[in-house]
Amino acid sequence: MESRAGVVIVGAGIVGCSVAEHLSRLGWRDVMVLDQGPLFEAGGSTSHAPGLMFQTNSSKTMTDLAKYSVGRYMELELDGRPCGYQVGGIEIAETLERWEDLKRKHGLATSWGLQSELISPEECAQRVPILDKDRIRGGFYVPTDGIAKAVRACEAMARLAQERGTKFYGETEVTGIEIRDGRVSAVETDRGRVETELVLSCAGMWGPRIGRMVGMKVPLVPMQHQYAWTTPLEELAGERREVVHPIVRHQDFSMYFRQRGEQYGIGTYRHRPMPVSADDIRRDYRGKGEFPSLWEFTPEDFEPSWREARKMLPALEWAEIDRPMNGLFSFTPDGGPLLGESREVKGFWIAEAVWITHAIGVGKVMAEWITDGVPSIDISGADVHRFEPYALSPSYILARSAQSFREVYDIIHPQQPMEEPRPLRASPFYPRQKTLGAYFLEASGWERPQWFEANESLLDGRRISDRGEWSGRYWSKVVAAEALATRERVTLYDMTSLKKAEVSGSGALDFLQNLTTGELDKPVGKVTYTLMLDGVAGIRSDVTVARLGEEHFQLGLNGPRDIEWMERHLPSEGSVLIRDITPGTCCIGVWGPAAREVVQSLSEDDFSNEAFGFFNARRAYLREVPVTALRLSYVGELGWEIYTSADLGLRLWDLLWEAGRPYGVLAGGRGAFNALRVEKGYRSWGTDMTTEHDPYEAGLGFAVKPEKGDFVGREALLEREEAGPRRKLVCTVLDDPNVVVMGNEPVRAGGEAVGYVTSADFGYSLGRSIAYAWVTPEHARVGNRLKIEYFGVRYPATVTEEPLFDPAMKRMRV
Ligand SMILES: Cc1cc2nc3c(=O)[nH]c(=O)nc-3n(C[C@H](O)[C@H](O)[C@H](O)COP(=O)(O)OP(=O)(O)OC[C@H]3O[C@@H](n4cnc5c(N)ncnc54)[C@H](O)[C@@H]3O)c2cc1C
Repeated sequence: MESRAGVVIVGAGIVGCSVAEHLSRLGWRDVMVLDQGPLFEAGGSTSHAPGLMFQTNSSKTMTDLAKYSVGRYMELELDGRPCGYQVGGIEIAETLERWEDLKRKHGLATSWGLQSELISPEECAQRVPILDKDRIRGGFYVPTDGIAKAVRACEAMARLAQERGTKFYGETEVTGIEIRDGRVSAVETDRGRVETELVLSCAGMWGPRIGRMVGMKVPLVPMQHQYAWTTPLEELAGERREVVHPIVRHQDFSMYFRQRGEQYGIGTYRHRPMPVSADDIRRDYRGKGEFPSLWEFTPEDFEPSWREARKMLPALEWAEIDRPMNGLFSFTPDGGPLLGESREVKGFWIAEAVWITHAIGVGKVMAEWITDGVPSIDISGADVHRFEPYALSPSYILARSAQSFREVYDIIHPQQPMEEPRPLRASPFYPRQKTLGAYFLEASGWERPQWFEANESLLDGRRISDRGEWSGRYWSKVVAAEALATRERVTLYDMTSLKKAEVSGSGALDFLQNLTTGELDKPVGKVTYTLMLDGVAGIRSDVTVARLGEEHFQLGLNGPRDIEWMERHLPSEGSVLIRDITPGTCCIGVWGPAAREVVQSLSEDDFSNEAFGFFNARRAYLREVPVTALRLSYVGELGWEIYTSADLGLRLWDLLWEAGRPYGVLAGGRGAFNALRVEKGYRSWGTDMTTEHDPYEAGLGFAVKPEKGDFVGREALLEREEAGPRRKLVCTVLDDPNVVVMGNEPVRAGGEAVGYVTSADFGYSLGRSIAYAWVTPEHARVGNRLKIEYFGVRYPATVTEEPLFDPAMKRMRV
């Protein structure tokens, strides 16, 4: 074995082999892949996965990863044998709720560019003749879904990589990682030491063990998952082909099925979560079929699924279970993969908790990320740094990963909050919000009021339309009343959950100038809305920067990833300090026409328009509470974001509440906030734009000041501007004001899918149903007629000028 490598990959499962192949494609010639097991049936999850690939996912990222992966599995072959079978996939519906959800799924597939159709029970049975068509309402069919032969694909990719110099070593256990000056310097194995500055752990469910070697927490839990083959079925007698039936998901019972020759395979998540510690998994390999990733089969857990399987596939009635298993693979607190580089140790990367379905795509983005610093698709939902500190606690990881297991096939509403552990994070206003009858949802652990029962009386005399069942979940007519009242009176919005950081030090200005698109070299007291781009001008985040001192800035951010990104760019000589001030700070948005009267009545500082202009920030006192006030508003009304330390939060709330009484003050929830934001046209990062979009396409060109000098992404941005938009974010209004969509629905023009919805809500001040959408440039013109497909029905909509509400900014600048 060589004593040096450019990069060492730990694990030759499907992920490790894919990254190796993609790195070698990008020109790496000194890659080394090590596995403790024999190559290529190494004993990890890949060794026994039946390889079903259903591509459709509510996440665009996951669908994109799956699409790429499927394409590659179908191309790959090993000694003339294919690595994939594109037999199609059917998700069947037994319940009405599932059937409705499949309509939505058909919409998602269309949005993400995946061909699919809804088919009748008869059509399902034509494709899978052993299915009992009388028990189902229909199916969602994706012709490009199929089966991966994962171990074969590992070897096929390994051979390609080997041709380009990659070395693979089996039966070589990584036992330690050496670190020098905060970066990886070598890997220790039971066969010697390998010097390297880059390690990529693709150790799957052993990930937490490898992470620990460099002090990195890897939030995944290996879970047992039951799978069994049947004995040969009479109906398939003589079938010699690997697979001809489409793969089937029966999600009403958390199950899936696949045919293999004369047999069927049955997988189930309909059993208790059975977590295992990464430390308890054997590392040795005891010959054929004795994989470390196989746990003892527990027949009592399988029994209900076996009964259900024989009902849904009556041909199984005469079959028996053959080679059943409790196989292990990784689950994470939110069900997503874990990709990225360690925060503490440079050169240590991970790509774990990845399914076969997404693995080749993950290999591609990891290779791009390691090589060029930028993955080609938005991986924010898979970034290992997306978690808040509490989410890295062992109890949270265990509880939430078990929940991901339970919910793996559930119908999850986009706003559905986690149930446990709650309440986790609460703002100082929480007791007052409870008294006002807050209906809480949860985001990043924060309890966030969606609306307040106390505002029900505001509905008197207002006619608010009902919503459909889906968009009416986690919604109340009170949301409408709060939105309307905000435009008439003054409302307190709890903005505490907004991620906030303080950036200070002699190098702070230069540091922020380099990381953002805007001009931040402004006088103290100015606030700037700006963007952070990646190296290819994709929008990594939108940020509000308040200059509170010559060397002191307060930033409003989108999440932990932003802080991690900034830390990665810190100058080494210590001239800049970044502090996440979210936990110790609270914030109230005081917004509405009466906001000034309320705030001014509590302060001797001057809050007049002349003294305290729009997009300015001041430190002041509201009575005895020292505050930082930022004059801006995401709801499009006069007012301030008022920050103070958490200890004084309750006092601040009470002062504003008392001062607001003469003006009819109310508390506003997130429901109203979002509706007001959408009618005002303010973008929400992650929903309206991601790294896949540039600022001009997203309508955020105003936040870019290339003349200020160099910044991350500038060069690429100038090229992008010249090349013109690849698509455009547009504002559309639905003809039917009674239909409110939720986001991610497909947009059609003349029957063709031309884009998808991002933020959508009802604009209560305007009486119009609004849907922002990414569409191809030729469909972005104002006046263009489009159709938005929602649960299978196509609703006409028109591209309009934006913002719809107060384009002249008369309400905010007074
Ligand atoms: C029963 C079952 C059915 C499944 N069905 C499907 C399916 O139908 N479709 C789907 O998409 N996914 C399925 N999965 C999930 C899928 O198998 C896994 O998510 C995937 O195989 C993970 O691949 P990996 O490369 O990350 O991990 P692994 O295949 O586990 O590879 C990790 C490798 O790292 C090696 N390693 C660990 N520690 C060390 C060390 N210290 N030194 C050297 N090497 C080390 C291990 O030996 C192992 O080979 C299924 C899983 C199970 C259990």
